[in-house]
Amino acid sequence: MSKAKDITRKEILDKLRAQAPEEALLKSGVIKEKLLLDPGFKKAKVVMLYASRDEEVSTWEIINEALAMGKKVALPRCVSQAKVLPKEITDTDIDLEKGTYSIYEPRNSQQNVEIEEIDLVVVPGVAYDRDNNRLGKGKGCYDRFLKALPPRTTTIGLAFDFQLLDKLPKDSHDIPVSRVITN
Ligand code: ADP
Ligand code: MG
Repeated sequence: MSKAKDITRKEILDKLRAQAPEEALLKSGVIKEKLLLDPGFKKAKVVMLYASRDEEVSTWEIINEALAMGKKVALPRCVSQAKVLPKEITDTDIDLEKGTYSIYEPRNSQQNVEIEEIDLVVVPGVAYDRDNNRLGKGKGCYDRFLKALPPRTTTIGLAFDFQLLDKLPKDSHDIPVSRVITN
């Protein structure tokens, strides 16, 4: 357990909880528009996203836009303590259920998506830095997942302004994202 990471995590999580919902909504709109203009996102046929929680950058409209654009959309399902399994969804109202920590995830009956198929992954993160390093919730799930991705797959982190730091504590198993989009 890294103490430096724990301190930063708590600091940013406090700021996320303290941010006014209207502010989060406005910033999420800006971030969504930037992502939809991203050339990597535009050309991706298979995208993996995640269902955001209330205080995070909202991914819900992004998921629905991606579906409307005809993309194949996968979301992670937690299968064991530190493993995520990408599963396809076609309807956010029908195909999701509340999973571990009340995060929405695809029902177990949803089709698995092969990792080799995924063109772009929008990765969840607590904070990022100028070198695209990522701080997660502290379980290392996405470090393992990103390591297994084909090198051609683009990875994008979404962050409110205060989630982008100069320098994050980094361990050898931490995998940076391709780029970070902020408001
Ligand atoms: P997070 O990325 O969620 O912020 P950490 O980077 O602190 O969390 O990692 C959490 C735990 O997961 C660490 O104890 C680390 O050893 C473990 N871990 C991360 N990546 C791997 C990996 N590729 N293989 C095995 N264990 C890993
Ligand atoms: Mg990590």
